[in-house]
Amino acid sequence: MKAIITGISGQDGYFLSKLLNGKDYEIVGIVRRNSSMTTGTVEQLPAKIRDSIRIEYGDLTDAGFFAKLLEREKPDELYHLAAQSFVGYSFQNPASTYDVNISGTLNVVNAIKEYSQKTKMYFAATSEMFGQPETTPQNEETVLKPRSPYAVSKLAGYWTTKTYREAYNMYIANGILFNHESEVRGPEFVTRKITMSVARIKAGTQDYVELGNLDARKDWGYAADYVNGMWKMLQMDNGDDFVLGTGELHTVREFAEESFKQIGMDITWSGEGVDEIGTNQSGKVVVKVNKKFFRPLESDNYLADPAKAKRILKWNPSISFKQLIKIMVESDLKSLG
Ligand code: NDP
Ligand code: GDP
Repeated sequence: MKAIITGISGQDGYFLSKLLNGKDYEIVGIVRRNSSMTTGTVEQLPAKIRDSIRIEYGDLTDAGFFAKLLEREKPDELYHLAAQSFVGYSFQNPASTYDVNISGTLNVVNAIKEYSQKTKMYFAATSEMFGQPETTPQNEETVLKPRSPYAVSKLAGYWTTKTYREAYNMYIANGILFNHESEVRGPEFVTRKITMSVARIKAGTQDYVELGNLDARKDWGYAADYVNGMWKMLQMDNGDDFVLGTGELHTVREFAEESFKQIGMDITWSGEGVDEIGTNQSGKVVVKVNKKFFRPLESDNYLADPAKAKRILKWNPSISFKQLIKIMVESDLKSLG
């Protein structure tokens, strides 16, 4: 089996590469060139896996690149993970987010339609498409009301793939994935920002972490579980839409508390709003609030109802909230030596 992975240099690309390598896939990874010629998380893969991946350099916004790629490779599966994936950045740079996430997705589906109709495609949709949901928990039938440029762009991608699936009888699966995190999560996402800070605070190289909305609540799972769900979505007879999530909500505050617990610190909160602080047992301030990390619009009330994935794909998350934090903090502590 041959698979193309766009966004192989990101978090999910790392775990998907491991999974597909374990199943003896030939993997072609798409990476956009940068001046230092780095390949992101691909460099963190075990050498045996890394060396088996064929990297092709190309950008999502280049329709001609994808046309030639699909005409030449005709893969069995294509996992379209590449995106401008950071909600905060999408408020500052909506146009480039739309270019990459909407036009980029159109380039991928057009190339499959024209040159490789048998390719099964996975599209990385997101729980952010729910926006401020009126019903909870959310499943494949919940009304979509996006509340960020990122969410709008993913909604456009989602409806593009659904339209192509119906109009041209293509196999396309949409994964409506809730937040999933790991030891290779991008450092600006709140979970990794916290666990990296906790490790540095323990090492004495950082005093405190500055966060935004401590009461924001998310349904956080472990990325390795979610890429397994992506693969399962492409092993069916037809493409379909599936929600993946844990069905458990936790606040940023709880994530921080549990992370500090891993290094033996118990946090006490005091103050309110942007003046709130978190101190450890010795009275040292280790968490501060900074309004620069608040979003112009916050999406809340997210909670996954993954019943369809459990029933049809036999998918189940295996890592708990506490286990996830342990994995992340231990990895960040280790990388500091
Ligand atoms: P990451 O941000 O870690 O990875 C995104 C990848 O896309 C990177 O490899 C990045 O390359 C690549 N990319 C961005 N722009 C371009 C471009 N113009 N051309 C080519 N490649 C590009 O995201 P994740 O791995 O966490 O997520 C994978 C997908 O799933 C994304 O589409 C994301 O939006 C979606 N998703 C993620 C969730 C999560 O909680 N992680 C939840 C729901 C959906 P580079 O390394 O050069 O930046
Ligand atoms: P997202 O769900 O894809 O936007 O993932 P993030 O990790 O960026 O944000 C998760 C939640 O944490 C959001 O509700 C943010 O508003 C909240 N949050 C609170 N403080 C911070 C922070 O310092 N950085 C980030 N990235 N998010 C924060």
